[in-house]
Amino acid sequence: MSVVALGESLGLLVASRIGRLELVPTMDLGFGGAESNVAIGLARLGVPTTWMGRLGDDALGRLIERQLRAEGVGVATTLDPAAPTALMLKERPAAGASSVVYYRAGSAGSRLAPEHLDLAAIGEARILHVTGITAALGEAPRAALDAAIDAAHAAGALVSFDVNHRSRLWSHAVAAPEYRAIAARADVVFAGEDEAELLTGEREPEAQARALVALGAAQAVVKLGADGALGLVDGELVRQAAFPVHAVDTVGAGDAFVAGYLAELLEGAPLAERLRTAAACGAVACTAPGDWEAAPDRAAIARLLGG
Ligand code: ADP
Repeated sequence: MSVVALGESLGLLVASRIGRLELVPTMDLGFGGAESNVAIGLARLGVPTTWMGRLGDDALGRLIERQLRAEGVGVATTLDPAAPTALMLKERPAAGASSVVYYRAGSAGSRLAPEHLDLAAIGEARILHVTGITAALGEAPRAALDAAIDAAHAAGALVSFDVNHRSRLWSHAVAAPEYRAIAARADVVFAGEDEAELLTGEREPEAQARALVALGAAQAVVKLGADGALGLVDGELVRQAAFPVHAVDTVGAGDAFVAGYLAELLEGAPLAERLRTAAACGAVACTAPGDWEAAPDRAAIARLLGG
């Protein structure tokens, strides 16, 4: 196994309206979650990947497990008989901003604890990928995240950390020191501009990357949306422009980007190449709706890069 992605995966009910009780013309059932999005992104790039987390022993949990496996992702989860799978209701309106409602507290994913980890799978991985969402879900998931990092360190695996701050889950004041502590134990840190500012207090991406490295991670990547990204490794600073695409849904771009970066890291590619593939993955992921559905395979990246 090359990568273990630890964290949440939750059901997604996407309707053309949520809120008032009324007839809605469309309703789709799917799933998503930052870490399982990254796992699918990696699998599509040909990287053997396992998603590790907790699902409820219910129809939604079994659906997610089946679909992850159908995407070529290994699943290291125990189905929790006592807690349901987390669910997110998402509105996809014809125009305007969408609303999102979560059921998370008390979900199986929120009860992830150290004893649920498959330490053998982490021991075999070359990279463990974690996000701040897992830390924000509560004390037990936070402890699981630390135990997973311990196992990765013991096995000599790299630790990849995408901050993925969710202000609804965690206030800035509580989250910032926790993220800094995780970053200090990671080898690669990914952060959006706002997240990097939250961790470092810096406002400018280059200063943010330097401050992230000063926290202890050898590699820092600041994701800048349609402005591209910036990476810093061993004092080498590389800027990567975004690839121009017709973006219809940018949700999941960051996860596809991370998958592209980690896939190239495993290949031993230099920083510029890691960022280029990552940006290509992020760009392609924007071209169709969905959280992971548009994550590219190698052929789709080649098409984008080829012109
Ligand atoms: P996140 O989804 O974590 O907030 P970003 O929005 O920064 O992350 O997106 C990650 C990467 O995806 C960016 O660094 C960029 O390379 C690519 N990307 C994001 N939005 C666009 C866009 N509109 N057009 C092209 N590429 C994009």
